[in-house]
Amino acid sequence: METKHVLCATCDISCQLVATRKPGEKDFTLSGDYDNPMGPGAICAKGKLAQTTFEHPNRLLHPLKRVGERGAGQWQQISWEQAMDEIAEKLQGIVDRYGAESLAVTSGPWNCSTESGMTRRFMNILGTPNYLSPVALCLGNTAAVNRFTYGWMPMPDFENTNCVVLMGHNTNSQNWVWEYVRLRLAEQRGAKLIVMDPRRSPTAERAAFHLALKPGTDVMLCLGWINVIIEEQLYDKAFVRDWTVGFDALAKRIRDDYPLQRVCDVTGLNETEIRESARLYATSKGAIIPWSPITDQQVSSTSAIRAISILRAITGNLDAPGGEMLMGIHQDLISEPELELTEMLSDEQKRKQLGYDEHPAFTFKAADIFAEHSERVFGHRYPNLVKGTHMAVPSTTFRAMATAEPYPVKAFFAIANNALFGYGNQALVKKAMLNQELNVCFEQFMTPTATLCDYVLPGDSWMERPNLMDTYNWATITMTSEQLYDPPGECRNVYDLWHDLAVRMGMQEWFPWRNVEELFDHRVSRTGLRWHEYLSKYKIQLGHYKHFNYRTTGFATPSGKVELYSEVLEGFGCDPLPYYRNVETSDAFPLKMFVGLREPQFFQSGQRHNRRLRKSNRYPRTFVNAVDAASYGLTEGEWAKIETVAGRLFMMVTIRDDVPPGLIRVPHGWWLPEEHDLGADDHNDGLVIPDDQEYLDREQGIPHMKGVPCRITACAPPRDFVGIGALQ
Ligand code: SF4
Repeated sequence: METKHVLCATCDISCQLVATRKPGEKDFTLSGDYDNPMGPGAICAKGKLAQTTFEHPNRLLHPLKRVGERGAGQWQQISWEQAMDEIAEKLQGIVDRYGAESLAVTSGPWNCSTESGMTRRFMNILGTPNYLSPVALCLGNTAAVNRFTYGWMPMPDFENTNCVVLMGHNTNSQNWVWEYVRLRLAEQRGAKLIVMDPRRSPTAERAAFHLALKPGTDVMLCLGWINVIIEEQLYDKAFVRDWTVGFDALAKRIRDDYPLQRVCDVTGLNETEIRESARLYATSKGAIIPWSPITDQQVSSTSAIRAISILRAITGNLDAPGGEMLMGIHQDLISEPELELTEMLSDEQKRKQLGYDEHPAFTFKAADIFAEHSERVFGHRYPNLVKGTHMAVPSTTFRAMATAEPYPVKAFFAIANNALFGYGNQALVKKAMLNQELNVCFEQFMTPTATLCDYVLPGDSWMERPNLMDTYNWATITMTSEQLYDPPGECRNVYDLWHDLAVRMGMQEWFPWRNVEELFDHRVSRTGLRWHEYLSKYKIQLGHYKHFNYRTTGFATPSGKVELYSEVLEGFGCDPLPYYRNVETSDAFPLKMFVGLREPQFFQSGQRHNRRLRKSNRYPRTFVNAVDAASYGLTEGEWAKIETVAGRLFMMVTIRDDVPPGLIRVPHGWWLPEEHDLGADDHNDGLVIPDDQEYLDREQGIPHMKGVPCRITACAPPRDFVGIGALQ
């Protein structure tokens, strides 16, 4: 029996799997790895069926060059060398005409997790600050905002915790598997569970408290908890005295603006459940609030993330056993931040980063303030936590691409990212792409984004490459992955893309490694091992971490303490303390809508071509309460049109009583590869996510997705569907 260890990169969880095959067999069988302390045995159907996703007739196997109108689907197959020659020449021409900042790149870090910082390295050497990523709406922005309070993004200590607070999360065996496994183990040990979620779910039903708050009021509930914890003196007084600044200002803000009655009125919860749940969290020692995308995607995102950070801090959970670990980056590796060479980007170019002044929270404007403090505590000036701590702001960038204001952006690279579906305001993203002189994508399939490109380059999958995974620069945990198969056709590693362009654009000296294995040799060189030796020795390598490290180093903030009152935010003209803000319904849009939700069969906009996964989820379905279904004349299994100020989309109706009246649920990332136009303009949630200023978080500029005002009406099927029988 042949056995290999691999990391599934089908989604961002990175489960460690065991791959086995008998002599004479072609295919490996995948199973969860019980040696993995980060989620023993974790695997879901997407992971088990990964080979059917990648070994598929729809797979892109060769570089393609557009020969017809953009989006007309007329392509010429060309060689990788020709593609690189032409792209390099065109990109150089654009940079010469408009400046380096005229290149914007969006990258999906999990899909191309072997890039080892090479995307940013290429961009920094070229001189463009305009890196985008969907992590702006999902975890990366959380990491950036956590820095305002205590300088790093914490890793929850599931293994020793006594209380877990899940916000809008319904972890299960097919979704958030890694977290689900660790949560269930914690519950078996006796840890208590608190769930904040408007929806009823199996997770919520197990919880000691299910706080079914109104959509978009998460920050208000957190402010209510802070109120209880301060009023009842449940906070860690020694920690607050010795290690925080701004406690009095915070207490005054809470006392004056967020009395518990107001919290109850806004959240729809009663005082007893707020008080008792706050007490459970504050007195559990240790307690964790694991990251959730729910607070990444609201108009009050920054305040909500700040309020969560403050709760972690004042209850004494930072760096405490069973609490929230501020780990740094693995010391044995040459890290991604080192490889990114951010120091090579000039201050003048950093200041050109789109969104720098209007929405600075995750741009270079913030990163430069934290640089010296990160270096003092964690040894990295630009740690690029979760690849999200110095990005351009997506909506500002797409506007610049569409309008050339404040300056022209004329080249757009989408690296393993279906960008058309990855952000809000899909119509704007499309307009932006159509206004480019050069669109390039590196992909596995002809996605809606790829159809708008001039060059489509075929990328490898996680089964077809080795991987060195460093927890997205978030924790001192490194994992490795062996290669199972050769890449099909001319599919390449993302490293080859940046290397080959660099060679053609006079930057070869910065990309001396001939392939990704040589790059990994370099990355593990501090261990004294070659990559193949490291790969054999380590499935997982846990780096150094010690509790209460801040007692030696201080926190990675300007004051060296936890900044409950953020002078950095104040210096940006933002509120230094967390506050409540929401988007309200109107007569025209009387319902609220949750968008950006994952479904167990799919990750983001992926896997829609996989018939085995589609069989149990054929078409996009909106969940509606029976009360609303009756009010709006909706019928189970029939189609409905959902509209917001941004646009409209179509979904089938599913009537469910776990969704409260007044709220509908819209899943993320739907397109139909079997349809001639891919269904690209009819079903994705980005079509109905507005990104006008009133719908953006002020500090970050990310759009509101948890409680978007909308309306829903019954409608005829939007087309004659060919059905999933057309898929192979
Ligand atoms: S949850 Fe599923 S898709 Fe995600 S990494 Fe694990 S096995 Fe792969």
